[in-house]
Amino acid sequence: MSYVFNPAPVATVPVVGRAERFPVHRIYCVGRNYEEHAKEMGFTGREPPFFFLKPADAVVPVNAGETGTMAYPSLTSNLHHEIELVVAIGTGGKNIKAADAQKHIFGYAVGLDMTRRDLQGEMKKQGRPWCIGKAFDQSAPIGPITPTAQAGDVTNAEIYVQVNGQDRQRSNVSKLIWNIGETIEHLSAAWELQPGDLIFTGTPEGVAAVAAGDTLVGGVAGLGTLTVRIQA
Ligand code: MN
Repeated sequence: MSYVFNPAPVATVPVVGRAERFPVHRIYCVGRNYEEHAKEMGFTGREPPFFFLKPADAVVPVNAGETGTMAYPSLTSNLHHEIELVVAIGTGGKNIKAADAQKHIFGYAVGLDMTRRDLQGEMKKQGRPWCIGKAFDQSAPIGPITPTAQAGDVTNAEIYVQVNGQDRQRSNVSKLIWNIGETIEHLSAAWELQPGDLIFTGTPEGVAAVAAGDTLVGGVAGLGTLTVRIQA
């Protein structure tokens, strides 16, 4: 096979305890999947799950113990953090039942669904796609993936993010409206999941703006922390 130019490198994420990296296929995100966050966005939290995507190369992979950097993106003056549990798919499939979802999961990570909230809000108002608010370059910082066997019970784990040492979001994954199995069931009815897919499962309440120079430290109990600095 030859190409008219060199193909872009595969986007990858480090894996805890392994030299091999996790190659990213797609990034799916669940919207409004914690009731208190749905309410702060002006909704009830009683709606079927819905999804949007980010490009695979939006990941900003951050190694354990290191500080990742993300450039403050263009066109916005309201860049928000959304701390999320990320599910990494190791075995693909379609029409996966919630009860069978576990065997499709490779591992879990801590991720940030960074959002140009002003642009997302404008697109919502106009009934237009969210892409410009959600799917921009470097919009998905993510820490190392912990394989399922080493991850403990992520379904009942504290999830939080601090900005410059101050709490911004703190909740528990048990408060997901659509749990991991149900999310995989809905998602795999709409798309055939593939190894390498990442699922950002939604964010709890407390989303707010960050500025250039801020340092974010996010975590999910049992998965370690993700540290990201916003650069001008
Ligand atoms: Mn989100």
